[in-house]
Amino acid sequence: MKCEKCDREFSEEEAREYPNKIRVHRNKLICEHCLVDMGVTLNETEPFWTYIDTRTDLGRMGG
Ligand SMILES: [Zn+2]
Repeated sequence: MKCEKCDREFSEEEAREYPNKIRVHRNKLICEHCLVDMGVTLNETEPFWTYIDTRTDLGRMGG
C-alpha cells in the first residue's frame, strides 16, 4: 500500500505493527506525515484495517 499524496510505500507488516503510520482519509490512503501536513487529526481518519473490513462487509452485502 502507498500514500496517495506523497507516494511513500508501506508494507502490510508496517501497517499492522504501526497502525497510525498509514490511515484512511476520505477513502484515500494517507501517511501520518501527510495527515499532519494537511492538518487532519487521527480522529478524522480510519485505521487501514478497519477500512478494509468495512469494504469487505459492503462487498458481502452486495453494495
Ligand atoms: Zn504521505
